[in-house]
Amino acid sequence: VLIVEKNSKPGGYCTSFEKDGFRFDSCVHSLGSLRENGALRKIFFDLELDKKIKIIRLNPFDTIIVPGHTIRIMSSLKDTINEFHINFPKEIENIKNFFNFITKTDFLTLYIKLKNKTFKELLDEYIFEEKVKAILTIPLGNIGLPSKAASALVSAILYREFIFDGGYYPLGGMQRFSDGITEVFKEHGGKLICSTKIKKILLKNKKVLGVISEDENIFSSKYIVSNCDIRQTFLNLIGRDNVPYKYLKLLNRMTPSVSAFLVYIGVNKNLNKIFKEKGNIWYASSYKVENVYNNILQGGIDSSSTCILITSPSFHDSNLAPENKQSLTLIFNSSFKNKKYWENKKIILSNSILKRAEEIIEDLSKYIQFKDVATPLTLYKYTLNYKGAAYGWAAIPSQIDKTLFPQKTEIEGLFLASHWCTRGAGQSGVSTVACIGKDTAQIILKEKI
Ligand SMILES: Cc1cc2nc3c(=O)[nH]c(=O)nc-3n(C[C@H](O)[C@H](O)[C@H](O)COP(=O)(O)OP(=O)(O)OC[C@H]3O[C@@H](n4cnc5c(N)ncnc54)[C@H](O)[C@@H]3O)c2cc1C
Repeated sequence: VLIVEKNSKPGGYCTSFEKDGFRFDSCVHSLGSLRENGALRKIFFDLELDKKIKIIRLNPFDTIIVPGHTIRIMSSLKDTINEFHINFPKEIENIKNFFNFITKTDFLTLYIKLKNKTFKELLDEYIFEEKVKAILTIPLGNIGLPSKAASALVSAILYREFIFDGGYYPLGGMQRFSDGITEVFKEHGGKLICSTKIKKILLKNKKVLGVISEDENIFSSKYIVSNCDIRQTFLNLIGRDNVPYKYLKLLNRMTPSVSAFLVYIGVNKNLNKIFKEKGNIWYASSYKVENVYNNILQGGIDSSSTCILITSPSFHDSNLAPENKQSLTLIFNSSFKNKKYWENKKIILSNSILKRAEEIIEDLSKYIQFKDVATPLTLYKYTLNYKGAAYGWAAIPSQIDKTLFPQKTEIEGLFLASHWCTRGAGQSGVSTVACIGKDTAQIILKEKI
């Protein structure tokens, strides 16, 4: 098996980079589904990644800070419920029922009940208080959608697999995860070629023959798995003329997920002394989270940084920053804009998000030693995901059915992997794409036999 990657290292969104002695995760900041019987755990141990990667678990994983309330998502559901109890005693039975439904219902029942619903409809069934609804909507930032648009099924799976079973972190940074998988791949005879961009998938009589890179190298193969952006796969690599009409129609109709704006900062101070919260912080300065997420989905920008995510891996892995220093990443979901827009707005928006972060981490900007920004355009350039999409297709009810973009395509020998495959639930994220990749491999192996 040969993997051809256009970047200098494997991982796409799941990579890390170093600057000034600080190590930052490019995008992915946490892994989910690693509990006993969790989907990623199975793959992790099957590949014996435990021999290469040490995983820690943050507790709390996420802390949600909103005006008047701080709620920690703990590694035990009981402790998380207790956090809600302290904050919303009157609503606690509803919250418990809601969490029980999400965590204890078997998948088939969840699927039948939730497939055509939005997360808002689900919330309305269980939760009465508007503030609690807003708080429970905040983690939908992980799929970049307001509750009235988000698929209830995908959101419930997100809660189950990434919120209640999240917070796993590979010591050394996210690159360790991608590198560990690459090492196993090579040990089993796989070959990886980096810094090589594929420009075409070669076809003859509607069958794949191989791929050709931009530097004109041809790699022949009976089976091609495209793990890159789906529009690129069909419209550029295959070419519009060779694409079955069904796919063209879907590509035209379907909406990609939103992108993200990230500010990476290295600070020359040990923030442990001035900031007591650990793990990832969701900070919303108002309860209008639904409006903020909806505005982004409609093409707007959260220019006043109303709802931000702060990740701080060096708090739990001291090797990620020089002694007595810390690395932080400030993130908000964002729509895609052109180069000129980001040239004009990049600094303004990074100052806005920093100012917002200072409301909970006092004087943060005083300690900045290093700062860099990634816009949706940066994400696009790095991964070629359409419009810098962070999570494949937007996880709305009409876009999750597995018949839309299953792994086996109508072009003989061409298979899909990546967060652009639809599989009925769990649209994006590392554990989902790992499962999709494994399924794709199994489909091909069955065909070969
Ligand atoms: C800001 C942000 C934060 C996130 N946080 C999390 C998180 O904490 N946890 C989580 O589970 N998920 C998170 N996600 C989602 C997650 O990153 C993605 O769903 C997942 O990584 C997608 O993996 P992928 O392999 O499908 O695609 P990608 O990561 O996009 O990888 C595609 C790869 O294909 C390569 N490629 C593209 N075109 C070509 C070509 N023509 N030739 C050769 N190579 C090519 C790219 O260089 C890239 O390496 C986050 C996403 C973003 C943007």
